[in-house]
Amino acid sequence: MSFDAEAKMQFLFALRSRGVTDARTLRAMEKIDRARFISGSVFAGRAYEDMPLPIACGQTISQPSVVGLMTQALEVEERHKVLEVGTGSGYQAAILSLLARRVYTVERYRRLVDGARRIFDELSLTNITAFTADGSHGLPEQAPFDRIIVTAAAEDPPGPLLAQLRIGGIMVLPVGQSDTVQSLIRVRRSEDGFDYEELRTVRFVPLMEGLGRD
Ligand code: SAH
Repeated sequence: MSFDAEAKMQFLFALRSRGVTDARTLRAMEKIDRARFISGSVFAGRAYEDMPLPIACGQTISQPSVVGLMTQALEVEERHKVLEVGTGSGYQAAILSLLARRVYTVERYRRLVDGARRIFDELSLTNITAFTADGSHGLPEQAPFDRIIVTAAAEDPPGPLLAQLRIGGIMVLPVGQSDTVQSLIRVRRSEDGFDYEELRTVRFVPLMEGLGRD
């Protein structure tokens, strides 16, 4: 199935009905074809269904409505420098790249980074830089960030990421003790410290230490 008018309309309708209402987020998700990020997979035909799908290295491309809700919760503006931890397929980073000035994305599997870079090139998304690294340490040489999004679940917000968030900045991340029940949290950093807000329950793969083997 191609991202034709009919598929696109249904995709956007499903996003809206699940609470993705921000116009800039919806426009970006209309432009980035999710099928590009799972091409060659046996699941490619299900790209426009609202479900997570398997990608290489035993990881997943997130559910579109969750990508949409996290993107709008991040309140990204055109001048922003954004850090994503957990590149995976590159889908979330591609959407962010249409909304922000600069996107840095970090993934612990080199194979996923290579795949995502190839798609960013094909789509001419020149404001994304992808690194193979353990993203729980952030990216100190590029800090501070206006926005940070983490797409793998930690038990607590990693200290280095909090430290690399600019004052006035926002971080959105899943937090939880188990693989099955996690909360999506929005952290706002002010002059006085950090404010935490629980947005909804989610289910993400865990944030792991060190590099992956692939
Ligand atoms: N944002 C992705 C979905 C990613 S799934 C997308 O749009 O497709 C979560 C990803 O986080 C996985 O690819 C996993 O390998 C990665 N990950 C887990 N722990 C990590 C860490 N410490 N540093 C960087 N990436 C990590």
